[in-house]
Amino acid sequence: MKAKITLLPGDGIGPEVTAAAQEVLEKIAEKFGHEFEMDSQHIGGIAIDETGVPLPNETLDACRGADAVLLGAVGGPKWDDPNASVRPEQGLLGLRKELGLFANLRPVQPHPQLMGASPLKESRLAGTDMLILRELTGGIYFGQPSEKHVNANGEEEALDTLIYSEHEIVRIAKLAFEIAAERRKKVTSIDKANVLESSRLWRKTVTKVAADYPNVELEYLLIDAATMHLLSRPSDFDVMVTMNLFGDIITDEASMLTGSMGNMPSAALGEDLNSLGKPRGMYEPIHGSAPDIAGKGIANPIGTILSAAMLLRHSLGLSSEAEAIEKAVDAVLNQGHRTGDIAKEGEIRLGTAEMTEKIIQAL
Ligand code: NAD
Repeated sequence: MKAKITLLPGDGIGPEVTAAAQEVLEKIAEKFGHEFEMDSQHIGGIAIDETGVPLPNETLDACRGADAVLLGAVGGPKWDDPNASVRPEQGLLGLRKELGLFANLRPVQPHPQLMGASPLKESRLAGTDMLILRELTGGIYFGQPSEKHVNANGEEEALDTLIYSEHEIVRIAKLAFEIAAERRKKVTSIDKANVLESSRLWRKTVTKVAADYPNVELEYLLIDAATMHLLSRPSDFDVMVTMNLFGDIITDEASMLTGSMGNMPSAALGEDLNSLGKPRGMYEPIHGSAPDIAGKGIANPIGTILSAAMLLRHSLGLSSEAEAIEKAVDAVLNQGHRTGDIAKEGEIRLGTAEMTEKIIQAL
């Protein structure tokens, strides 16, 4: 098959891990007889440096014209001035909004060989296999007004708006139930319905959607309790669905179940279909640009490589190819190969290029 993939390497370790995933995709194309046209565009800090804006029109056009987008990471100390009017994150948030990517999928499945890397006891982690579904284009990250002003007492005051409309909740809830129906048939909806009006609408709407999925169990948790249950009974969860802000926080907490953020992939899907009739998604590792290790060639590429596997599965409909990548990563970890972030004391630490090479060999 022929497919167009736009690569957005971004900042920090972004270019290093994106290059690794590109090599893996090239290997897949060769092995399975596909043609992937991959072109790179700027986003984030590098785009600000080159063009003055974090999401240049050229980048946006390329993403709209592609079947899928693979992103590294954006941001870094160089662009961290809180008073700056243009910031790297605006590029990412803008792209999610422009492409209508309302759903963020984050699988959390600690690898049996790496359970020791998690601060949680292995006995608690055993059997954990969940998918967190985070609403991505609504809520407090986009609500207006969002502003700072001087109040009547002469002091600075700032406000953000947490707003959700019914259709935004319906589409993410439907996706949660559909995914759960193909998995262990359980949805946990997370909100703060005891305090927030927007959460009460969330809960009422999720309950209505649940009526169409009688075979899927629905449980509710308040976000504060959910952060606790995630550590005390992680293997009880199947699909967790929640709003943008809570999802942002709980997915980072969940990343610690796997021991390293470097291993975790994610997908962002919207309603738009690509030239193959599949959702045009954006795929990225959950970690950031890791400025502390950028340029050293030691970043763990697995999160981005597994994001490329999700890209093949969800946007190109290539499940066997996706599985081939996942099995290759499994095999390499089973053989004991580790990058610095997942190595135990005394274990050999592979660099980004060496780890990528091992995965390509396993393919
Ligand atoms: P981070 O995820 O970049 O790094 C946190 C820690 O994890 C660091 O010690 C880093 O070295 C390590 N780490 C992360 N990815 C790794 C990998 N693949 N291999 C090995 N180690 C890895 O988070 P941060 O330090 O809070 O943020 C750094 C910058 O990244 C900030 O500018 C932030 O805004 C940005 N950020 C971007 C995204 C994104 O692009 N989606 C997400 C989160 C943070």
